[in-house]
Amino acid sequence: MTLDLLVRNAVLPDGRTGQDIAVRGGRIAEMRPGIEAEATRVIDAAGHLVSPPFVDIHFHMDATLSLGLPRLNQSGTLLEGIALWGELKPLLTHEAIVERALHYCDMAVAQGLLAIRSHVDVCDDRLLAVDALLDVKRRVQPYLDLQLVAFPQDGYYRSPGAVENLKRALDKGVEVVGGIPHFERTMADGAASVRALCELAAERGLRVDMHCDETDDPLSRHIETLAYETQRLGLRGRVAGSHLTSMHSMDNYYVSKLLPLMAEAGVAAIANPLINIVIQGRHDTYPKRRGMTRIPEMRAQGILCALGHDCVMDPWYSLGSGDMLEVAHMAVHVGHMTSREAMGFCFDAVTKNPASIMGLDGYGLAPGCNADFVLLQARDPIDAIRLKATRLAVVRRGRVIAETPARIPALALEGRPATLDVTLAS
Ligand SMILES: [Zn+2]
Repeated sequence: MTLDLLVRNAVLPDGRTGQDIAVRGGRIAEMRPGIEAEATRVIDAAGHLVSPPFVDIHFHMDATLSLGLPRLNQSGTLLEGIALWGELKPLLTHEAIVERALHYCDMAVAQGLLAIRSHVDVCDDRLLAVDALLDVKRRVQPYLDLQLVAFPQDGYYRSPGAVENLKRALDKGVEVVGGIPHFERTMADGAASVRALCELAAERGLRVDMHCDETDDPLSRHIETLAYETQRLGLRGRVAGSHLTSMHSMDNYYVSKLLPLMAEAGVAAIANPLINIVIQGRHDTYPKRRGMTRIPEMRAQGILCALGHDCVMDPWYSLGSGDMLEVAHMAVHVGHMTSREAMGFCFDAVTKNPASIMGLDGYGLAPGCNADFVLLQARDPIDAIRLKATRLAVVRRGRVIAETPARIPALALEGRPATLDVTLAS
């Protein structure tokens, strides 16, 4: 039987070389060296890396590509970003949100980013952004998995109407429960919000992903409550704490107690290195804190960790391009994760780890998995991070949905090659 697609001579993220990938009916039929079969399309990977698609576990698609509307963030702080978003909200239209989000999804697909968990602000009685992103989710479904989190940006208790609006958003089909305990009026309200939101998720059988302790305040300890409620309600494997930046500044003794509790509860941790390094430490003189949470220490405790992009050209961050390798690259630097093993983890933290947190079915490179993968102009995952490698081909359910020509600089140097091969096995 003719294959739909045959990829020849690929390197896999686990180091296997010379692999052929046979695709039929949208799934990986076989994977081994030397597959002999007819195929409608053949791609010669020529010893380059084939990876499962990139996954962004933390994003804000309702705000993306809105940079400068209605003005720029002057201080660079989280709080001015939230205030600015508050100014933009009344000006939003369904059409504008959909148009910007679809444009972003085009950028994502071109970069091999085929699954995104996006928070969507529910602190607007119209639920305009919720309806718009549910619309986008349906429209991109053939090529991108969009999972939505009901996010009370202005506080679950602090914002009038948020409690009711969050339930309405879930009723409409938003599938993950969000929160922002550090933005509530008091520590007690923050803890109460974590409890109530975890109970809501438990009642409805949903996952939880809270913005948690996104502050430099070392006494912001809502992750402790999140771990406790996860364990109390039996939500193991369904709960993630996003940002956790206060942990960067926490007392070391307290962290030595906290991390085993998180591991025991089965809470996942999500860092957003590009945004954390830009937003945190803004009230410091020198030395300035980095603000990224303690990823190496959490990994050492067996806590599942992943990396998110968080923002692209919005009130909080004016750069970004949907490139998860840029996210991994920043994590390597900010987290001192420069060993070979740690850099390999940073690649997993933008591919299989977030896929696991999202609960994506059929994700991975193995027979029976969905035929979703990316051919990169790189020799291995570390090379991919180093180069922020060109995505030569992006495949979804066996169909090539995006292609970019290889980057091959032409040189005019006497006695040197005419072209440069940018890749190097590391
Ligand atoms: Zn966020």
